[in-house]
Amino acid sequence: MEFTWNGKTYEYTIIRKRIKNIILHVKSDGTVYVSAPPRAPEEIIRHFIEENAAKLAAQAEQAKQRQAQAPDYTDGSEIPHLGEKIRLHYAAKPCQTVLENGILTVFARDAQEAQIAYRRWLIDTCVALYRQINREVYTAYTDAGYKVPLARIEIKELKSRWGSCTAKTGRISMNFRLMQYPLGCIYAVFYHEYAHFMEQNHSRHFYDVLYSVCPDYDRWDAELNHKGKE
Ligand SMILES: [Zn+2]
Repeated sequence: MEFTWNGKTYEYTIIRKRIKNIILHVKSDGTVYVSAPPRAPEEIIRHFIEENAAKLAAQAEQAKQRQAQAPDYTDGSEIPHLGEKIRLHYAAKPCQTVLENGILTVFARDAQEAQIAYRRWLIDTCVALYRQINREVYTAYTDAGYKVPLARIEIKELKSRWGSCTAKTGRISMNFRLMQYPLGCIYAVFYHEYAHFMEQNHSRHFYDVLYSVCPDYDRWDAELNHKGKE
């Protein structure tokens, strides 16, 4: 099945499920899936698709673009890292994965091995970095006179959020994918989540708190969200 938008054709697949409403979903490779109740007529589904064509087409294009930019982990390929591009270099002899002058040296013979070494390195780097930023942001809040706990950080690979805060348990979840973005963006998410220790909702008070410790919050937030959340 297909629909067109702006002169372009998009395919979609219908999956029948025991659900009540029609649900549209664009996968990370840009394909469109429609979950529909067992007896929903195709006419109704088609109509529903057409009503949402603009949104679906935009999401599909975004997903395809993201996939085209995804690194392939070959020797010499580029990987986005903290808002910059780093270049992958395969070492001939076994060695530690190390980043120096924008070059990430990994011991690998093919893209699969390189990707594994890279992921391992990135997780370690992420844990160390988030831990350090967590301390800094905590200190900034307490220095400003706010009563906040030193958060326990959980690193997750989230699809739709950059972070979240569970004030009751003093826990903050941080998106692993932030490692692609500039440091300022990562700090901004930490500042945002810490502000939730003071105020749960995105109220005026919430932003008063946030801006008082992170005056350039809007700039980093715009940079992060301009590039598109999933
Ligand atoms: Zn929030």
